[in-house]
Amino acid sequence: MTETRSTCPYCGVGCGVIIESAGAQITGVRGDPEHPANFGRLCSKGSTLHLTAAPLVQQQARLQQPMRRAQRGGALQSVEWNVALDEAASRLAAIVERDGADAIGLYLSGQLLTEDYQVFNKLGKGLIGTNNVDTNSRLCMSSAVAGYKASLGADAPPCNYEDIGLARTIFITGSHMAWAHPVLYRRLEDAKAANPSLKVIVADPRRTETAAMADLHLQLLPGTDVVLHHAMLHVLLWEDLVDRAFIAAHTSGFEALRDRVREFTPAHAAKVCGLKAEDIVTAARWFGSHTPTLSLYCQGLNQSTSGTDKNTTLINLHLATGQIGKPGAGPFSLTGQPNAMGGREVGGLANLLPGHRDVANTEHRAEAAKLWGVPELPARPGKAAVEMFQAAAADGQIKALWIVCTNPAQSLPDQAMVRRALERAEFVILQEAYRATATAAYADLLLPATGWGEKEGTVTNSERRITRVRAAVPPLGNARHDWVIARDVAQRIEARWGRAASLFAYADAEAVWNEHREATRGRDLDITGLNYPMLDAVPQQWPCREGEAEGRQRLYEDHRFETADGRARFHAPAWKAPAEPRSAAYPVSLSTGRLRDQWHGMSRSGLVGRLFAHSPEPCVQMHPQELERRHWRAGELVRVHSRRGSIVLPVQADEAVPPAQAFIAMHWGSEYLGGLGVNALMPPNACPQSKQPELKHAAVRIERAVLPWQVVGAAWLPASAWFDQRELLRERFAAFGSAGYASCVPFGREPERIGLLFRAASAAPLPDALTPIEAALGLHEGAVLRYADARAGQRRAMLLSDDGALQAFLLAGDAQAQGWVLDLLQQGLPAAAFGRALLAASASAPQAAAPRSPQVCSCHDVSEARIVATLQTCTGHPDERLRQVQKTLRCGTECGSCLPAVKTLVQRHAAVAEPA
Ligand code: SF4
Repeated sequence: MTETRSTCPYCGVGCGVIIESAGAQITGVRGDPEHPANFGRLCSKGSTLHLTAAPLVQQQARLQQPMRRAQRGGALQSVEWNVALDEAASRLAAIVERDGADAIGLYLSGQLLTEDYQVFNKLGKGLIGTNNVDTNSRLCMSSAVAGYKASLGADAPPCNYEDIGLARTIFITGSHMAWAHPVLYRRLEDAKAANPSLKVIVADPRRTETAAMADLHLQLLPGTDVVLHHAMLHVLLWEDLVDRAFIAAHTSGFEALRDRVREFTPAHAAKVCGLKAEDIVTAARWFGSHTPTLSLYCQGLNQSTSGTDKNTTLINLHLATGQIGKPGAGPFSLTGQPNAMGGREVGGLANLLPGHRDVANTEHRAEAAKLWGVPELPARPGKAAVEMFQAAAADGQIKALWIVCTNPAQSLPDQAMVRRALERAEFVILQEAYRATATAAYADLLLPATGWGEKEGTVTNSERRITRVRAAVPPLGNARHDWVIARDVAQRIEARWGRAASLFAYADAEAVWNEHREATRGRDLDITGLNYPMLDAVPQQWPCREGEAEGRQRLYEDHRFETADGRARFHAPAWKAPAEPRSAAYPVSLSTGRLRDQWHGMSRSGLVGRLFAHSPEPCVQMHPQELERRHWRAGELVRVHSRRGSIVLPVQADEAVPPAQAFIAMHWGSEYLGGLGVNALMPPNACPQSKQPELKHAAVRIERAVLPWQVVGAAWLPASAWFDQRELLRERFAAFGSAGYASCVPFGREPERIGLLFRAASAAPLPDALTPIEAALGLHEGAVLRYADARAGQRRAMLLSDDGALQAFLLAGDAQAQGWVLDLLQQGLPAAAFGRALLAASASAPQAAAPRSPQVCSCHDVSEARIVATLQTCTGHPDERLRQVQKTLRCGTECGSCLPAVKTLVQRHAAVAEPA
């Protein structure tokens, strides 16, 4: 077995991993105990990475050969790399020659390595001559970028992870950290355990597990963060908790802000935010007096039409109290994606150039042109992510889209517009590791990219720490590295345009990185003191200038900021409500966000059945009172309408979601759900400064969906075939149309078989739709028990395996029996003795069986019911009972992602009385 140090490819915590491999096969993964981001810990996603790299999974799900379509909607045919690269280069170049450089759009990803980004950025801005190079980081971090630059002069998070253990107050705002950044949340738990006086404040419209564990939960109304921040500053001023010496010596613009916040009394803010005035006062007091104070924030601030204002007004609080540039203090944005930071460093956004330079700055353009060896760089502003697709959809300004390592047909808002753009674009290239993303259906050319465990390069995490990513195994099939594909297309375009000396003569990833390093010389992120061998030894934070032995832990310790006068800038924006206020027609505020065990569009995490156990199926969550008021049952199908479209989903009761609000996980795209997925609902409106769209708020109407004809089917399928069967079932979604419902998700935790659960519903029977569904579930052959009543639209089929367990089933028409039949199948309970009673259309099983309880611990498959039952036997204070439960069931002892949920159960279920 070989061990290779690398990183987790999911979130911006940037955990170090040790990949175990044998030959060309990844066999295991564990946390790197020496990596300073995680010290050996991994969450539920990171600790199952090796399962996504299992041979049967890879062979089915990965794109392994370049493919092309002769015409849209046609079948894909494999082609040789030379043919694919020639076609990419010649068609892109021809479009530039005919329509100009701005007819090209490159849409990249925060999952790319810094080296990939560097080559694509140079190809777009330096060779082709367009600033239309943007990334899905625009959906994630661009408000944080704009906020840091506006307030501190540079896109540079000033803090590091150690500050979590040094702070005395931690203000978590717009972040469900326990699920979105789990390993960092473990540090917060450690900090609280070591220092019980640590104050944790969470501002979030939902009572998430992060909020439930806080000392103070500010359950504000969506989009009112600026009001809360202004009101906290009002209190800080009123109670003289500001640092006047710091303000006078190191900042500018305070007077305008002081005037602005005068009207934001706690009483006024309480009304606007839906909070108690005294809670705002408490939060401000802790922030200003129980110091040092650290703020941790993420998409709740960023994904907003006032995202930049939310960021700058939070930074205002740190500047006003001097809580920056010292241990345990500062505004610390948690990066969503693993290398959104690296992308920002190389200038991989439409408004940026290498080394934190700006397209809009003439000097910066000249410097970057010199670094790249081109006469000049384009001054025309580039189109940000949503604008790029709008330009392709509306007036055809963008003719070619080269999409790299991202899935815009799932993740961008206003999916109807995005799909129009993909249909209308003359040439769509998709460069991907996975073959079945929603975007793949629109590609003229698919280029297979290497994936996790195969790539070489670097990434930068939230705390500015650069880590080497190393290949443990060779590329699968004919996949190639992203930067290599970009280089090879670039060199073909150079040849066509008669360029003698190539700008892209890189021998390896290190050569690309060295070019990037030079672009940082003299800049705030200067890394001229680093090289690959140093990074091989220890991951390093930037900056690390030439001659320095290690990177800098914290920024602004000298209180000089990256502005022209060295002073940080206060900003005093007025409050703006979300783009779509609730109205009589759309009375519910819908928000989107992460699930604990999934990642983005699930092209990788969706390959592991066990990662579905915690949140098994798509749903819309609403407060139980909302269901009661509307006379809805949990699980009933509802239609969610926004101004842009509608989707049908089961509704679930969740006390975490306040009344008049709803929540849908961001992951559910058309790969898992009929229609265009959750982002069909979300608006394209964006923050004017950061251009980040408002993925956290849409005004919606939710109505009961009257779809009485229901289909529920499930099957255990061999691990060697499940993915193709899933794709066949996904093709069946269309039969139920946009008026109906359809979904398909995997389940199970055994290596040799995967379960698939298919659901659909329509207003009237669709008997013709059933045969292919039965075939995909393996119900077309063997000794299948059947019942059918064609006139009544009823059909039921059951297949038992040799050991008498249920292997597959389908219920169509009356699906009342779905609960117990699905339990029989998923729990592998003996079913043969039921005989034809299995075909009964009854809501209760012929023999009582315990219903399946929600899973809490993914690592050890521990359900809520088992934890609650064990707690009945536990004694002592909550920490003691937690220890007893963990000792008995092992829940929360592996990756720790479920610990907040286990602790909640411990708190909820009282201790048994101690014997006298
Ligand atoms: Fe990966 Fe989890 Fe670490 Fe994020 S917290 S980098 S998802 S292991």
